[in-house]
Amino acid sequence: MATLHDGETASSLSPTDKEYELTAERAGILETADRFARRELAPLFAKMDADEWWPPYIMRSIGSAGLIGVAVDPEFGGAGLDFFCQGLVIQAFARHNSSIGLSYAGHENLFINNLDQNGTPQQRAKYLPGCITGDLIGALGMTEPGAGSDAIGSMATVAHRDGDSYILNGRKTFITNGPIADVMIIYAKTAPERGTKGVSAFLVEKNFPGFSVAQKLIKMGHRGSPTGELVFDNCRVPAENLLGEENKGVAIMMSGLDLERAIVGSHALGVAERALEITVEYAKQRVQFGKPIASFQMVQALLADMYVAVESMRQMVYYTLAKCNRLAGTDGGRGEIHKLTAATVLLCGRSLQKICDSAVQVHGGMGYMWETEVNRLYRAAKVFEIGAGTNEIRRLIIAGELLSE
Ligand SMILES: Cc1cc2nc3c(=O)[nH]c(=O)nc-3n(C[C@H](O)[C@H](O)[C@H](O)COP(=O)(O)OP(=O)(O)OC[C@H]3O[C@@H](n4cnc5c(N)ncnc54)[C@H](O)[C@@H]3O)c2cc1C
Repeated sequence: MATLHDGETASSLSPTDKEYELTAERAGILETADRFARRELAPLFAKMDADEWWPPYIMRSIGSAGLIGVAVDPEFGGAGLDFFCQGLVIQAFARHNSSIGLSYAGHENLFINNLDQNGTPQQRAKYLPGCITGDLIGALGMTEPGAGSDAIGSMATVAHRDGDSYILNGRKTFITNGPIADVMIIYAKTAPERGTKGVSAFLVEKNFPGFSVAQKLIKMGHRGSPTGELVFDNCRVPAENLLGEENKGVAIMMSGLDLERAIVGSHALGVAERALEITVEYAKQRVQFGKPIASFQMVQALLADMYVAVESMRQMVYYTLAKCNRLAGTDGGRGEIHKLTAATVLLCGRSLQKICDSAVQVHGGMGYMWETEVNRLYRAAKVFEIGAGTNEIRRLIIAGELLSE
């Protein structure tokens, strides 16, 4: 039996069939989130994409609906559910507005989940309630202009202790929610000479002196989700805002990245479901040669392949979410779960690319038009092969784990 982490075996993490099934309770959560997203988020999607617009009230609306802090203890305002349910909410949001899906994932998973897993009770009490009502928006800054795939080795952001504070210097880029975030988890080197044992995580508020947003970045897809470059110029962060222990930030980062990969899978699944849904509809109503194009077998083949890809994604995403349910704190980032989450996001990213390509193909020239929904989904799809580690990095992780077994 493969060893996962010290003292843990494959069977101890393997979910039973029941654990990854869409039970009635889970189906109810997916349905609730879907109904909310169809009503509140879908009507915003086109304008957000066209105008690069973020609706400033939307996180509060999501909070009022009880859909933030899904896995957080009710003591801090959360719903007290689990990681699987967090994935279901993102899946539902992605079906109707992938841009909000991305910003929500940055808030709910990258910020809230990482804080909830790694914060002190004081840190959780200070930030979680405001984040869960949607009054505060969270983000996470790991990537830098010179440190993408090699996020740790090439990290140039540094922090040093100065009395009761740390002083941060450096830049982060491509940060989801960066331009609108109130509070962020930021990684910086506190002991650059110690490599992976010299990175720490900090909770940085937008009003801390020395913090600024350098620019909002213009993207090809997910244009309604604000992405930005952040600057830390002698940014003073109170020592009590160190997240986890000094120089132990890599464990938080690596474990958080595994959970992020599972969530990116959920997000991709929602987009894929929507692409299939609107493509089937279009094929039924578009008439050529006197018949709906859905009657042509070559179109049917595209639809059938899209369905196979969506259902494969669903099985893998739910299986992986169930496995993540069993993780605590910084248990991820290595072993079986590291390999599986990388495999899930690799499968989902590739599948979504094919699905959206076929979706545009079935829509013909209309699919090539910027303002159509299928075009928005096509433009949104590419990032699922890049974010949370590129396809190449995912394969390096999988091969690395296979070869170390
Ligand atoms: C829309 C969007 C939102 C994002 N949100 C966030 C966020 O909220 N927080 C955050 O911290 N980051 C975020 N990112 C950053 C994202 O995680 C990085 O873009 C990603 O990790 C890749 O880094 P890079 O862009 O610097 O590419 P690079 O690392 O420069 O890679 C360029 C190419 O080289 C390949 N490559 C690199 N190293 C190897 C290797 N060893 N072997 C083979 N091929 C290799 C890559 O696979 C890729 O094809 C976001 C990115 C985007 C596009």
